[in-house]
Amino acid sequence: MTSGTSPLEFNAAKYSQGELCIEQMPLSKIADSVGTPAYVYSKSYLTEQYQLLTNALAQTPHRIHYSVKANSNLAILALFKSLGAGFDIVSAGELSRVLAVGGDPESVIFSGVGKSTEEINFALKAGIGCFNVESRSELLRIMAQAELLGRIANVAIRVNPNVDAKTHPYIATGLKENKFGVTKDEALALYLLAAEHPAINLTGIDCHIGSQINEAEPLLQALTSVLELRDALERHGIELEHIDIGGGFGVRYQDESPLDIEAWGASVGQILGGRDLQLRIEPGRFLTANAGVLLTRVEYLKASDEPENKNFAVVDAAMNDLLRPSLYQAWHEVLPVRQSSDAQTLEWDIVGPICESGDFLAKQRSLALAEEDLVAVLSIGAYGAVLASNYNTRGRAPEVLVDGSEFKVVRRRETIQDQLRLELEQADH
Ligand SMILES: *Cc1c(COP(=O)(O)O)cnc(C)c1O
Repeated sequence: MTSGTSPLEFNAAKYSQGELCIEQMPLSKIADSVGTPAYVYSKSYLTEQYQLLTNALAQTPHRIHYSVKANSNLAILALFKSLGAGFDIVSAGELSRVLAVGGDPESVIFSGVGKSTEEINFALKAGIGCFNVESRSELLRIMAQAELLGRIANVAIRVNPNVDAKTHPYIATGLKENKFGVTKDEALALYLLAAEHPAINLTGIDCHIGSQINEAEPLLQALTSVLELRDALERHGIELEHIDIGGGFGVRYQDESPLDIEAWGASVGQILGGRDLQLRIEPGRFLTANAGVLLTRVEYLKASDEPENKNFAVVDAAMNDLLRPSLYQAWHEVLPVRQSSDAQTLEWDIVGPICESGDFLAKQRSLALAEEDLVAVLSIGAYGAVLASNYNTRGRAPEVLVDGSEFKVVRRRETIQDQLRLELEQADH
């Protein structure tokens, strides 16, 4: 960490009387009740992040479409719905989740490069607010299906503004080399094509240049680029109601200087100044990342006698519960749930029980650890539980939502019966 920065300053988890808590709830109590590993989220933190964005855009007509893929738990969707959010989805499954919490289909934007015919039909019948179209072939498919079903499809074309989001290559999406969207020239051609079609209602332009973007500059460049296209379309007689600049707003995990959301909001207001246009954004990580921790227990300590060798703390959470460290070399803070410890402070690699050397949650962390201690892996509210798998036939961990001094299990722990069912129910077993 650089000097003066503590992850506790920007995280939902805080120490109170030596005990790590989410809101007023000690994490040890949650572990006693639901066991470990478990994902624990703060309702008030989620609410405050949403309010930060709303405030930053107070001067701009806007709509926030929560990116469901960041954390798709129904309780979290219901919370954002209650705060006034719409949704950005990337699959029919995510649409089903939104509908399951009574979300208004009109508030739904459907993104993604590979929408199947079934998914398009499901979304058309549900009456979603907008398809973010990523290719000519997809546009043709949506036209055909809308016509067949006698529906009107609201459409925005996703342009790739060729802006470098300056983020990890796996989560940069706005460069020519990425698979997302179409070039501005192709977009113009697609708008002209779609404008002729009776089953298509052109409502906006879309872009999304990447994730974990910590500088305003690329986001503003993308906005300006999209606005130019909008003006060009207007000269062709195509009037649009909204521009969607996607998500990607960065957060702090370690010592990053995060995006100044207030300053970004002010610049957006200036760029859009006075235009009769609705701004849409699709934040995921910004709203949820620092709202949650992964609670886990130390199973075994494997300390080495030789100083050049590593010390391993084997915990009961693994890469199947939190893939980000293995997938992106992502850094997550690890803190003891109880601050005081008699144990000696050593440098530990925090690893899981999975049979892969890539199964680690954190490396080289100075911690005073004893077996059976509880530790919390911070900042796991986005792209944590949603990336969980059953690798090694591990059941997926429960999710818990804390509200003040109470908590609720919002997804129970997956049992072995849950996992075996899909195979046992096949007749020849
Ligand atoms: C993933 C994604 C988002 C959300 O990204 P965050 O970095 O979590 O804000 C928004 N829009 C689209 C199209 C996405 O694919």
